[in-house]
Amino acid sequence: MIEHHFTVDVEEYFQVSAFEPWVPRDRWPAMESRVSSSVEQLLALLAQYDARGTFFVLGWVAERFPELVRSIAGAGHEIASHGWDHVRITHQLPEEFRVSVAKSRRLLEDLTGAPVCGFRAPSFSLVPGCEWALDILLEEGYTYDSSLFPIRRPGYGYPSAQRDPHWIHRPTGMIAEVPPTTLSRCGINLPAAGGAYFRIFPYRLVQAGLRQAERRGTSGTFYIHPWELDPGQPRLTVPVRTRIRHYTGLNRVVARLHRMLAEFRFRSIAQTLVTLPQPVPAGQ
Ligand SMILES: [Zn+2]
Repeated sequence: MIEHHFTVDVEEYFQVSAFEPWVPRDRWPAMESRVSSSVEQLLALLAQYDARGTFFVLGWVAERFPELVRSIAGAGHEIASHGWDHVRITHQLPEEFRVSVAKSRRLLEDLTGAPVCGFRAPSFSLVPGCEWALDILLEEGYTYDSSLFPIRRPGYGYPSAQRDPHWIHRPTGMIAEVPPTTLSRCGINLPAAGGAYFRIFPYRLVQAGLRQAERRGTSGTFYIHPWELDPGQPRLTVPVRTRIRHYTGLNRVVARLHRMLAEFRFRSIAQTLVTLPQPVPAGQ
């Protein structure tokens, strides 16, 4: 039976990229924190179904809630990095990106005593033109990335990327890529990996994406954020489009997670990478 990847981008409700113009970083420390209780809820859910996952934790969150990181790892889940303070790669210089991934990795490893090998870019911002980030990840000790979303969307997506876990050759070495799940319909890749698509569209979108991955004999990758389980989060004053995307369907998420966890098996990305066949080097 195929096991899929259950992944969580561990960040506060006010740290999403769409809120950036309305909640500048210098206001973050004064905002009400909600992340811990939602993560605890996710841990209980995963335990109920004996599922494991990968938690991409923001360095900013780990620094404030070290016990939260330890309890995720203590429950048998993989800890990976979501960068330091949610700046998108498209808004970073290479050296700023390097500091973010190096500093967050060091902190997460210090907290758990275990190696951190995975990274997911804030808002899947590893887009065409930002491939240098893969080289920096390799140089900073990462072995996989989960940021190349093979879809075409304003602001993000890497349309030419492969849909299933694979290796990418870079000048600095080989890095594994574990893309979020897409659903192929009439030759078009639709995002079917989680997040807003899980909340706003019918459950069968993500269900079909995971089933399609199974038919290809591979693991799909689902993602969710702690704030998506929190209908009680403070409502921020943002434009209507952002409001719809962020707040629609928060009430359905827990029931849908129960359904998905009952229907599919989940493990961490690290568990898959152990078995991901390495490509034969050119010339052999
Ligand atoms: Zn994020």
